[in-house]
Amino acid sequence: MIVRELMKKSEKELEELSLDPHAAKVLFYHFAKKEPHELYLMMDEEVDENLYHLFMVALDRYKQGEPVQYIKGVENFFGRDFVVNEHVLIPRYETEELVEQILYRIDDYFAESNEIDVCDIGTGSGAIAISLKCEEPRIDMKASDISVEAIEVAQKNADRLDAKVTFYVGDMVKPFIEHQDKVDILVSNPPYIPVEQKIELVVKDHEPHVALFGGKDGLYFYRRIFEDAPAILKDKAILAFEIGYDQKEQLSLEVEHYFPGYPYEIIKDMNGKDRMLFIYKNIK
Ligand code: GLN
Repeated sequence: MIVRELMKKSEKELEELSLDPHAAKVLFYHFAKKEPHELYLMMDEEVDENLYHLFMVALDRYKQGEPVQYIKGVENFFGRDFVVNEHVLIPRYETEELVEQILYRIDDYFAESNEIDVCDIGTGSGAIAISLKCEEPRIDMKASDISVEAIEVAQKNADRLDAKVTFYVGDMVKPFIEHQDKVDILVSNPPYIPVEQKIELVVKDHEPHVALFGGKDGLYFYRRIFEDAPAILKDKAILAFEIGYDQKEQLSLEVEHYFPGYPYEIIKDMNGKDRMLFIYKNIK
């Protein structure tokens, strides 16, 4: 079969299942190890038998509802490819903005520092920790996750991207307290979806619930981090979080409860949704 026919046939099948037909091409050029424009140039070629089988298995997984990123096994984040599987949350565009905003604050508040100690709590694939380390070599990066399988993925990503990051398996702030770490910046994109909130099936059925759900109101893990963070913060420090789009009011109350008098700000993402929280300890 030639590529064009295979694409037409597959796109039609996906449309009939009300799935995104574009996924056919995305999967095909991934397994063909081609860029999108190269796929266009090979439309009239015969499909290699090996590639055909790889593609058909991938297409079948997609038809079963699996996210394209897990089928490909990689997702791009902040310009680098990260290995992903069902043990880690797929890195989101919104989270790239958290990385960007942290880098701006490093420029603003740590310009003179030779070393910046940063910890990432609940690192998952390691996307935040590794991107920060790659972008800012002055960072001494440590990252934790409660899932051994997630840490295996994160370690693989750090190795592939040649990023020196120390990983701990452990619960939230605990491993950093145990290692007596002190940080300039604490980062986290904790699970923040309220347990009973309805979310897309492709997310709910495939992404790890341990990375998604944050108790009844979605704020459980923020409270736990706020409670324990003081033990690992240096005298001057920044806390940086991703947050849910509808958590501004409730989370502000929590911040004022745990960090009375500390300046903080909630920043919107590119879709205009509240998405990031920064808390400043003796800075700003
Ligand atoms: N942004 C993710 C989603 O909406 C949730 C990530 C998280 O809970 N930290 O699917």
